[in-house]
Amino acid sequence: MLSKLARDKPVVLEVIRRIVQLSLFILFNAGLMGLAATPVLLPILVPSATPGRTVGNAFSAMEYMLSEAVLPLIPLAIFLIVGALAGRALCAWACPFGLVQDIMVHIRRKPVEVAAHTHRSAVRLKYYILGICALISWSLAASLAAGVGEDYKRALGPFAYGPFTTLSPAETLFSLLPAFLVRLVEHYEDVWAFITSLPALFWARLVLMGAVLILVAYVPRAWCRYFCPVGALLAIFGRFSLLSLRINPVKCDKCGACVRACPMMVKLLELEPEKISDPECIFCLRCLAACPNGAIKLRIP
Ligand code: SF4
Ligand code: SF4
Ligand code: SF4
Repeated sequence: MLSKLARDKPVVLEVIRRIVQLSLFILFNAGLMGLAATPVLLPILVPSATPGRTVGNAFSAMEYMLSEAVLPLIPLAIFLIVGALAGRALCAWACPFGLVQDIMVHIRRKPVEVAAHTHRSAVRLKYYILGICALISWSLAASLAAGVGEDYKRALGPFAYGPFTTLSPAETLFSLLPAFLVRLVEHYEDVWAFITSLPALFWARLVLMGAVLILVAYVPRAWCRYFCPVGALLAIFGRFSLLSLRINPVKCDKCGACVRACPMMVKLLELEPEKISDPECIFCLRCLAACPNGAIKLRIP
């Protein structure tokens, strides 16, 4: 059905995806409308420190559990199950920071194209970031479990509770920034004193968030492609996901429209056409919509 919709009404498919993203964004923050918080954890960048949140962030939960020397079996199982079932589909359909990036890219009429060799190297960055975060969190957990980690934890400061979460631009945008604005209004009589009292980490987070937002306005989904460790972990578990794409070689005339439309720069035409399950694919289905011959289909076993 999705394949037919993509072929006949490509714009409608994009509108549906935007409606799903927006609806889930409202649902994830529906605590502001009185909905109770749930224990559901999701492997995407939902903010973990907003007052109205109804779901949790599996990656932040994992980091926090490790900082308390608790084995994060549940968050890891969530990454495993979601990755194996749907790959990175939640990145295109549910992640609030994915939605922000999809909106930001409309600021520029013509996105910047990244050279293929630069892209190939930069894609690895997110795995390095994931590795650094894992190294910090797991070494802290191991030293705490051995009873020698308290000094290490103190030295890490706020990074102990989440090396990535502390700097995550999504956390800054959705949690830190609104809280800052509320406090700015409260301190309207001594704004300058309030601003100068803020720690360097606050400004570093703000600058990082600003830089990421500018970047994603130029390069579609640049944060997801190159930096997000949550997407990287999902990509690892989603390597053999049940969801995949299929290109019908009989219908395909190699026009390349699908590759040009892909925000994640997946080289669709260089992959095995029968079962395309690239770890970078977020199943946004823009390639389906772009194909003039209806040659691409979503495979759901
Ligand atoms: S890669 Fe990260 S920021 Fe991008 S959509 Fe996935 S979880 Fe969200
Ligand atoms: S390959 Fe298709 S579905 Fe996957 S990210 Fe690219 S455009 Fe989206
Ligand atoms: S857009 Fe369709 S016809 Fe063109 S290369 Fe891609 S799959 Fe083939």
